Amino acid sequence: MYKIALIGNIHEDGVKLLKKYKFSLNFIRNFSKKNLINKLKNIDGIALRTSKLDKSILQECKKLKIISRHGVGVDNIDVNFTNKKKITILITGNSNSASVAEHVISMFLNLCKNSFIADKLVRSNNFRKKYEMSPSYELYQKNIFIIGFGRIGKSLSKRCNAFESNVLVYDPYVDKKTIKKNNCIPINFNQGIKKADFISIHLPLTKKTKYLITKKHLTKMKKTCIIVNTSRGSIIKEKDLYWALSKKIIHSAGLDVFETEPPLKNNPLFKLNNIIFSPHNAALTEECKRRMGVETCQNLINYFFNKKKIKKNNFLNT
Ligand code: NAD
Repeated sequence: MYKIALIGNIHEDGVKLLKKYKFSLNFIRNFSKKNLINKLKNIDGIALRTSKLDKSILQECKKLKIISRHGVGVDNIDVNFTNKKKITILITGNSNSASVAEHVISMFLNLCKNSFIADKLVRSNNFRKKYEMSPSYELYQKNIFIIGFGRIGKSLSKRCNAFESNVLVYDPYVDKKTIKKNNCIPINFNQGIKKADFISIHLPLTKKTKYLITKKHLTKMKKTCIIVNTSRGSIIKEKDLYWALSKKIIHSAGLDVFETEPPLKNNPLFKLNNIIFSPHNAALTEECKRRMGVETCQNLINYFFNKKKIKKNNFLNT
């Protein structure tokens, strides 16, 4: 009987699937290093939410064959180590692109219509101050620059095309034909930054993508540019974003992710009124939580009982 550790909460429909296959299940809620090392020693497979599995933990998992990640980012796993030890990592590549793409659209619209400010005006009996509000904009016929054309980037492009926007895409690892086939316009990074009315980032966090957006790039953006980040916090340098927003170098920003999570209480961005936040919950719709839970568990079942059934999108780097 294979032993599976579920680190963090996995949707009950996923757990039911594992039970059908008679796995021995170990539910872990204490994420301290000591407890993880202790509980993972004899485990064959892990269903993993956001807890960090670094080398010091992984090297103690002598029987571990597979980590099934609930989500797509793997920056909480020491992938160099798992590669060396030939531990498979599977992701829920098909589950969350629609929910994250919708979250981006919701942030775009909220920011360009000033909805969060308008709501405050009405509640504070300042109805007539609508004429003093900063201008509102549309997505219609605007240049939307998508950085990273993987699962979420593609899913967002479909939604942006529905708004009749011009969708500009930068992804050096995707060929231009594919971008054009999806009714988008391939563009280089610097041109995209300059032309964009809206920017959305959909990249993994790597050495190359850390601080991809800094003061240097923010300075080149339109004054009316709106930028949203739902990928990983450190892709935009927060200190520089604060500078650009406080000096009104760009219109506004939406962040679902932060350099430090949870963000520090005194994060200077919280003082600004041209930025909105969400607590890294872009993928946490009810529908998506279920899809991710089921897919995380299905990946484990497929790995142990029928590897051929693993979907291409669920392997890392596809
Ligand atoms: P994906 O792997 O399908 O796509 C990533 C794309 O980035 C790929 O097409 C790749 O070619 C491209 N890329 C990699 N390095 C690049 C670079 N230096 N410059 C330009 N393009 C580059 O991933 P995805 O499923 O679209 O997810 C994107 C990211 O979103 C994830 O890595 C994760 O960090 C984040 N995410 C966040 C949430 C959330 O709740 N906020 C949910 C899911 C995913």
